[in-house]
Amino acid sequence: MPIGLPSYDEAAAHVASRAAEILNRPHLIDTVALAAAYGRVLAHAIRADRNMPSFPRSTRDGFACRAAEASTHQWLAVAGSIRAGNPPAGPLPTASSWEIMTGAAVPFGADSVAMLEHVENFEGKIRLNSGRTLDPGENVILEGAEARAGDDLIPAGTRLGPAQIAAAAACGHATLQVFVKPRVAILTTGDELVSVAENPASGQIRNSNAPMLAALVSAAGGQPWLLPTATDDPSAVEAAIAEALWADMVLISGGVSAGKFDLVEPALARLGAQVRFTGVRIQPGKPLVYCEIPRSGDTPAAQAFGLPGNPISSAATFLLFAAPTLAALSGSREVRPNFSLARLARRVEGKPGLTRFVPSTCEFHPLAGAATEVAPVNWKGSGDLAAFALANCFIAVPEGVDCLSAGELVRILPF
Ligand code: AMP
Ligand code: MG
Repeated sequence: MPIGLPSYDEAAAHVASRAAEILNRPHLIDTVALAAAYGRVLAHAIRADRNMPSFPRSTRDGFACRAAEASTHQWLAVAGSIRAGNPPAGPLPTASSWEIMTGAAVPFGADSVAMLEHVENFEGKIRLNSGRTLDPGENVILEGAEARAGDDLIPAGTRLGPAQIAAAAACGHATLQVFVKPRVAILTTGDELVSVAENPASGQIRNSNAPMLAALVSAAGGQPWLLPTATDDPSAVEAAIAEALWADMVLISGGVSAGKFDLVEPALARLGAQVRFTGVRIQPGKPLVYCEIPRSGDTPAAQAFGLPGNPISSAATFLLFAAPTLAALSGSREVRPNFSLARLARRVEGKPGLTRFVPSTCEFHPLAGAATEVAPVNWKGSGDLAAFALANCFIAVPEGVDCLSAGELVRILPF
């Protein structure tokens, strides 16, 4: 790390290179039912168990035929009928067609399917409508055209979404081997915090970071473990972090700025933590601490993040730095924050010497071809939960940029 605070890019590159090392470590494997596999990370590649499709499949309701015959507009006798699920039929006699339903096997001898809507049908014969022609292969997916038996369909390390679950089901996987979810300890600190169910006295606030971080951890593929809130007392903070070391990752919220009761860094030092960086040139979230805390025996050090306590700072620093590390611990190959682009609706100011992450709302545009639109929310600092509740992304304003203008394509980090 450079002398002085790293820039966002430097800190992100550091986290990414550490994440790549973590990803290469062996990960524990679990077996889950396919129905419970959504969001889990695949431990072994999924291969096609047979040709896909395993028979030439019609993509339309209509009449299987020979394209060359149909295109002459001669009448073709309907020699049979086949529906999805029937064993392959045929062979197709010359000058004939075969009634066929979507998903059925194209009879031997046929090379195409004329759509029902494109033929005249009269007394057991069909004829392609005048002005239409049919090409060989039209409306037919040949056996093995999508994949051949044994082909890799989904690589290990893929986080399973609906599309991958469908492919796994098609290949006969009622259960899947996935990586065990990393356990993530969430330790909130601060004398002012009371639980969600309590009525805060004057000067107190409800602990909103604990459930917010739990949600972020779940969404990022971890298993959240909420610890009791630690008071702003050196030994309480140290004991709580020591307890948290049962987890693979430790998120400590609060107590990392320069205030009198910011006790996290000294506690981390007493626990022998190896600090990777402390502070990043970002706003919000500048006091972020990233370190590794040794654990007993052969257990790899816990990845630990001291997140600034302000809720928007905690969320931003989690998404930017902790989420990629958590992805690596979970065995996922997607170890970078998921930035995308959107068209800016309103001007956003930069901050000299810092990369800004501005809580914003992005909306998919209903018009085809129009970019996603993003607008900053009107926020009063990084503790403004009323404004944050309207946001679904951060706009990144790079360091050195005075302002982003309306109409520009800007980087956003959705959450
Ligand atoms: P700190 O990082 O501990 O200096 O806290 C910065 C600000 O975030 C203070 O206003 C805290 O009251 C607030 N804060 C700290 N922890 C939490 C939490 N768990 N939930 C909501 N706000 C918090
Ligand atoms: Mg505090």
